[in-house]
Amino acid sequence: MTEQKNYIELIQNTFSTIILDAIQYFPENVKKVHYESSGLLFGMNKGDFVECDYVFPVGSVEKRAKDSIKSNPKVDAAIKTSRQLFSTSNFLGTYHSHPYDEYFEDWACPSNADVAYSLHTKYPYEIIIAITRGGENENPLTLDFYEGNGYEFLYNHDSRDPHSFPKTKELGYKTTYLMGNFQRYQFEIRAYQFTGNSLKDIDLESSEADLLCMLNEEKIMLKDLQAEDTYRLRKLEFNLRTEQNKKNSEDNIRYHMNKLIR
Ligand SMILES: [Zn+2]
Repeated sequence: MTEQKNYIELIQNTFSTIILDAIQYFPENVKKVHYESSGLLFGMNKGDFVECDYVFPVGSVEKRAKDSIKSNPKVDAAIKTSRQLFSTSNFLGTYHSHPYDEYFEDWACPSNADVAYSLHTKYPYEIIIAITRGGENENPLTLDFYEGNGYEFLYNHDSRDPHSFPKTKELGYKTTYLMGNFQRYQFEIRAYQFTGNSLKDIDLESSEADLLCMLNEEKIMLKDLQAEDTYRLRKLEFNLRTEQNKKNSEDNIRYHMNKLIR
């Protein structure tokens, strides 16, 4: 099978912002707040992949529910002015959350309504974060990359229920996604590309998530670090980006990690 080239990489604080936005509309301690989050992805197409360096959580929507979001066209029009304000990032697409009471398989896959939305907007990328709250234990952040069979998701014309599953076709190769726990939340993040008539799984990479995994392995807690260490954390995040020269970046990573391990 041909290996897919395209992937999306979440750099800087984009990965954590997507998680925090999902949490603010599905907080563990306010049971009546149970809504989807949604926002915009910005960054740059780098040929083989797209780098997402900024996300904008959209708070002002027409209707927010636990299984859907209806954006306000007037707000959308105002947000489109970003093209006249953002000089260093381009619009890449959108993200949204799936806040569920319980974990189940395929919870971060697009719904039929999500495919319909992409067919309508034709935005190139979509990121979905599925999340539960109220787990038994209060966990520090744990994160892992996983590989699963990649799928293409096509609009299911036979179904009247927008939350039903779209039609799927196996891509024939594996794609990467992220799963983790944080406090009492469990989450999974997946990335999709719009093909013109479907959404398809693509690899999700994140230098920010890589950095958090690395700190976990070394048992370094962010809350124990000093403000001056932020400089090193920034260097580490930069060196963990997929486009960095591997040899140089490995040396830099080792150097800065050693400084953090006291
Ligand atoms: Zn959805």
